[in-house]
This record gives sequence, C-alpha cells and structure tokens, in this order.
Amino acid sequence: MKKIILITGGSRGIGAATALLAAAEGYAVGVNYRNNRAAADTIVATIRQNGGEAIALKADVSNEQEVVDMFEQVEQILGPLTALVNSAGVVDRHMPLTEMTAGRIRRILDVNVLGTMLCSREAVKRMAPRRSGSIVHISSGASKSGSPFEYIDYAASKGAIDTFTIGLAKEVAKDGIRVNAVRPGFIDTEIHASGGAPDRMEKVVGMVPMGRVGQAGEIAEAILWLLSEKASYTSGALVDVAGGR
Ligand code: NAP
Repeated sequence: MKKIILITGGSRGIGAATALLAAAEGYAVGVNYRNNRAAADTIVATIRQNGGEAIALKADVSNEQEVVDMFEQVEQILGPLTALVNSAGVVDRHMPLTEMTAGRIRRILDVNVLGTMLCSREAVKRMAPRRSGSIVHISSGASKSGSPFEYIDYAASKGAIDTFTIGLAKEVAKDGIRVNAVRPGFIDTEIHASGGAPDRMEKVVGMVPMGRVGQAGEIAEAILWLLSEKASYTSGALVDVAGGR
C-alpha cells in the first residue's frame, strides 16, 4: 500500500525534519506551511531530488475552510492519506499571565489546539472508512512544566494536546487508527527566535540531564517510529523525547 503523509508545519523545524525522514522511508509527503513558501519549496525540492514524491500545501491550520481544502487537495494529488503529523505550532514572547492579551492567548490556542483538532478531524473522516491510519501530535515538555513566567498559554495548549491524544486514541481505536503524541524537550529550531528568545538554547541547556539540547531529526525518529507498524500496539502514548528531562 502506498504510504501518504500530511505534515502540518512541514516546511521548517521538526516538521521539515519529519518530512525528509518520511520521504526517505518511502512516504509521499504533503508539506504544509502558512507563510514561508520558500522554506516549503526547499523541502519539496530536496525530497524530489532524492527520488521521492512531495507537494507543498499552503493553509493556516486554524482556518477551517483552508484545512478542509488542504485535505481534499492532498488526497487528489497524492492519494488516500495513511498518516498525519500535527507539527504546526506557535509560541509568543515570554511574559507572565497578567500581561497577556486575549488576542495573544487566542492565537496560541487557535493554532496549537484548534488547528490540531481540525486537521485530526479531517484525517479521521478519511481514515476511518478505510479502517487504517496513524496520527502523531507534537505536544511539548511544557505540558508538564507549565512554563511559568514564559508562556503558560503555550504550555496549557500542549496540555490540551496531551488530553486530546488520549481521548482521540480511544475514540478511533476500533476504526484501525492509532493516535500518539511526542513531547519534545528543548529542540534547536527557529521557534525560539519567533518567541523573541533567539539565545534560548544556550540559556536552557543547563536544565537538560544529557547536557545538550536536541535536534529536530531526533524528534523525527520518534515520530516515524510511532507512525510505523513497529508501533502497531501503541496508541494514546505521550512519548517524551527530551534528553532525560
Ligand atoms: P518552527 O521551526 O517555528 O516551525 C513551525 C512550523 O509551523 C513552520 O513550518 C510554520 O510555517 C508552521 N506554522 C506555524 N503556524 C502555522 C499555521 N497557523 N498554519 C500552518 N502552519 C503553521 O517550530 P518547531 O520548533 O519545529 O515546532 C514544531 C512543533 O513542535 C510545534 O508544535 C512546537 O510547539 C513543538 N515543540 C517544539 C519544541 C522546540 O524546542 N523547538 C519543543 C517542544 C515542542 P511558516 O514558516 O509558513 O509560518
């Protein structure tokens, strides 16, 4: 059976590393992005140069119509989806709750929670009649730490993803769909600069038992294992990939 995967936020960071590894493991890859077309095109071109199949798909995961259109497009072009990775996610600047605006909190919840739920809904609708599929969410170690004075809105959004993973896994288990989450620790990507903390990796490295931050490819390996038949009895799992933290 042809393996076909959609990766939200597949253009950069953890999503991009997952797209490249998935292609190397024989998946045709839908690379979703929101703004940065050039980054998505680079990942697609790299996959094609290596003999794989990939397309770039522009959609804001917090926009319901754009999500529905993206799922229709990916299946029209690549074929029936067998896997979904929800990697699209955002942080914002470090501050205590008392300084957060409703607009900021809403954006974090819209992208990280609503976006993951909408994409999972569209995937389940398509996978359930085929009685086969695998979904991986990207949560965060922040769901356990709560990220006080940094971004407790973000941490809470990832707590929602943990609970959503557990619930959805039970809801669709009899449909032949497995649902799991990976909880990365501190991973060296551009997300930290987007939250106004480009030097965050140097600041947090002392908190990691292994004494180093992680690389996006190390998260991708866990994701691909969860997606694969090697994880055939694993569903509803929250897998920490965080250097012992
Ligand atoms: P990143 O390097 O900033 O990449 C974010 C990706 O998400 C980009 O492809 C971006 O596309 C896309 N994206 C953002 N908002 C979107 C939207 N509304 N709709 C569609 N795509 C959107 O981030 P990352 O570090 O790889 O993080 C990936 C996931 O891992 C996130 O869920 C994050 O919370 C989680 N995580 C990261 C870390 C870490 O330390 N890096 C730790 C724990 C968990 P554009 O470039 O087009 O905007």
